[in-house]
Amino acid sequence: MPLTFVTSTRGQPMLCLQGYVFRKDRQTNERTTWRCVEKTCKARIATEDDSHGEPPMHTHSPDPVDIKVRGVLSQLRESAAQRPSAKPTALVAEVVGKVESTATLGKLPKPDLLRRRVTHARRRAGPGLPTNPLRREDLIIPPFLKVTTKDVSFLYYDSGEGRSDRIIVFATLANLSLLKESNEWFLDGTFKD
Ligand SMILES: [Zn+2]
Repeated sequence: MPLTFVTSTRGQPMLCLQGYVFRKDRQTNERTTWRCVEKTCKARIATEDDSHGEPPMHTHSPDPVDIKVRGVLSQLRESAAQRPSAKPTALVAEVVGKVESTATLGKLPKPDLLRRRVTHARRRAGPGLPTNPLRREDLIIPPFLKVTTKDVSFLYYDSGEGRSDRIIVFATLANLSLLKESNEWFLDGTFKD
């Protein structure tokens, strides 16, 4: 049976076995030893490829709900890093929406804490969002910010990096056709000397 893992907040793999979670202890060649995440528990187990040694005795009971919660959090961290421009609220709703077990839902951190985890995971995954440039000619737009969260092209026009008279237009074609069909447009702007 293949081994099951979740990732820690630091992005390290954790082994899940029979309701217990283990963090990596040491690795020598193909053999990895793991120790139980419970601080007072001395349980250790070794794995090699897809197989594991004899499951150890623990000083506490297994917690399958804890494993499910860790799984949900790993998934959240993964989507946070893979889709850097998706809103934290949307990612949290999406990942939590897939959880069916009420026991797992009950043990999940509150939504605002989950959203903070998204931000944290992105910071760890880096380089992430570029720092704000002081001049528009210095603005470098990374590819993931040139598309919407639905992967539709959003950078409509860019007169070019390195120009002080640079003009950048953000819009999707659907946005433009909305404008085209509208009789009234309301505008806002920020102007600086
Ligand atoms: Zn243990």
